[in-house]
Amino acid sequence: MHIHEYQAKQLLKSCGCPVSNGRAVLKADEALGAASALDGPLWVVKAQIHAGGRGKGHFKEAEAGTAGGVRIARSAEEAAALAKQMLGRTLVTRQTGPAGKEVNRIYIEEGSDIAREMYLALLIDRKTSRVSFVCSTEGGMDIEEVAASTPEKILTFTVDPATGLSDFHGRRIAFALGLTGAQIKQCVALIRNLYAAFIGKDMEMLEINPLVVTTAGDLRVLDAKVGFDNNALYRHPDVQALRDETEEDPKELEASKFELNYIALDGEIGCMVNGAGLAMATMDIIKLYGSSPANFLDVGGSADKEQVTEAFKIITSDPNVKGILVNIFGGIMRCDVIAEGILAAVTEVGLKVPLVVRLEGTNVELGKSIIRNSGLNVIPADNLADAAQKIVNAVKG
Ligand code: GDP
Ligand code: MN
Repeated sequence: MHIHEYQAKQLLKSCGCPVSNGRAVLKADEALGAASALDGPLWVVKAQIHAGGRGKGHFKEAEAGTAGGVRIARSAEEAAALAKQMLGRTLVTRQTGPAGKEVNRIYIEEGSDIAREMYLALLIDRKTSRVSFVCSTEGGMDIEEVAASTPEKILTFTVDPATGLSDFHGRRIAFALGLTGAQIKQCVALIRNLYAAFIGKDMEMLEINPLVVTTAGDLRVLDAKVGFDNNALYRHPDVQALRDETEEDPKELEASKFELNYIALDGEIGCMVNGAGLAMATMDIIKLYGSSPANFLDVGGSADKEQVTEAFKIITSDPNVKGILVNIFGGIMRCDVIAEGILAAVTEVGLKVPLVVRLEGTNVELGKSIIRNSGLNVIPADNLADAAQKIVNAVKG
């Protein structure tokens, strides 16, 4: 789960990190009050969407050249006007894709005078099974370019979970960032606070880009992007409360209500599979035979009729889906029960695209005969390769 920049900053501020004063604005008529409550002489007006690259983004309806989702104002009135302009418009950045994202929240912040922009992130490094700090002196809006052309300017420090974090991590990062004097102490404290927040809130990713040195010589967190481990969300009702469902794919949102593990993709074959490994294999083999999956969907080892029906609804609501492949291994579940579930779902939801069903496991023959005798237009398949070829052929005509 991701949260907005202003929520991440509130969280980091409460953990003792140096964050500027700011106010979130949800309605246009709140903008002037919010901006006036903050001190000048600079105000930064920032579109809140769950995507980065806002500074270099552009608004959809805007005339060519109109500046993006991060704007500097020189009075509270100007800040309020910018906030009103952004609200309700669609911001397109390199992370949103061409469709862009509607801006429904604005964050107005007291502006900082920047001497230098740096990059700092914490993430779970799956290769070393450790938390890593990633940092660079070359922070700001072109970090992707830095990573691509001068990767040696990006440094990584991992934390051994057995000994945990200590001040030397903070000092090493401070030197890597070229910090001097009092900034080193500030950096050590910042690293401690960020690490505590990361572990304490079960984050997966915490990115500060830019972390800046102000002209007064102090460290400041100017942008913050946080992702949480969904499997640990139950431990953090305060984090759950920050969820903004309007930022999520409506199909994924619906799936999560039925405990279906669904991720929307941009291919043409809808997949309904049980088990994450089998789902991955199914997506691979669809690719192998020349098409591409419209989604990842793991209905789980014990899906019931309601979940199977819901899965069908979600798959068929995607206009890109030109065919559906059901690939279920009846281990704990029995194939005849699965077949009944599929038929019930198809009867309820209707079917306008070809459907291939491959069943394997307990009571497989019974399951197949239920499908065969149903009178519905379902194409049975004997194995994974057969199933993938049949659905690709059906879709490609
Ligand atoms: P992003 O483009 O979505 O990553 O949005 P950021 O919050 O990182 O802002 C983009 C850029 O705006 C930063 O890299 C800064 O150069 C600039 N910026 C953000 N906040 C301030 C500020 O308080 N003062 C000044 N002068 N520039 C800022
Ligand atoms: Mn940024």
